[in-house]
Amino acid sequence: MKSGQIIIFLGPPGAGKGTQASRLSAEFGIPAISTGDMLRRECQSGSKLGRTIEQVLASGELVGDDLVNRVVAARLRHFDCRRGCILDGYPRTLSQAVFLNSLVARMNLPLPVIFDFDLDPHDVIARLARRRQCAVCGRAVSVDPNAPKGELFCDRDGAPLVQRNDDTPAVIHERLRQYRHNTGELVRFYSGANYHRLVATGTPDQVSETLFATCDSGMDPATFSASMPSAANL
Ligand code: AMP
Repeated sequence: MKSGQIIIFLGPPGAGKGTQASRLSAEFGIPAISTGDMLRRECQSGSKLGRTIEQVLASGELVGDDLVNRVVAARLRHFDCRRGCILDGYPRTLSQAVFLNSLVARMNLPLPVIFDFDLDPHDVIARLARRRQCAVCGRAVSVDPNAPKGELFCDRDGAPLVQRNDDTPAVIHERLRQYRHNTGELVRFYSGANYHRLVATGTPDQVSETLFATCDSGMDPATFSASMPSAANL
């Protein structure tokens, strides 16, 4: 893969995109950018915009394309994206994908590589029911869904593990509906040489193995960092 390469993770919620994004980020030294995390941070800031976004997130619907496009365009111009980055959860609509393609062309970057995480909807629901997040480091952890509340802690920093308030059955249903509504045209838009379907049913290690093997075929970390574009190009 080329310097400045954007790697896009498509797929339903709970398919393991976040876990694989942080593994790939560590392996290749490029940032993993989650639009969901960026939006949640804005909610936590308590700003007026954050309060509006919070309502959208709690409903399971999508935040408006214009806002998300602006946030991503600004983030991609950060210096840490000069060698490439992973986009986890963006684009989610055809209009976002069209916007990203024009941005990539304007920034003179290679065409993105796409990994489409493939997971059965029943597995998605089962995984989301088990998913908890560390209140401090934000790491996603799979737990016994029947464990008593308040007794689960992150084994890295001892902080409580909490359930995202959009990981509840009603909101999951709406998030899956949004995903199904948009995914067909997104996949058609990206079908071609740079599109890879990734079976996401295995363990995180099994999924990483396939993902890394595909990336490794042209993305050796040594040569990757040796061919950095200059900041002036960004
Ligand atoms: P995630 O953490 O990726 O599951 O995203 C959580 C929520 O953030 C989604 O249900 C949407 O409401 C919102 N969101 C994240 N990424 C996008 C995006 N690319 N476009 C619109 N809304 C988004």
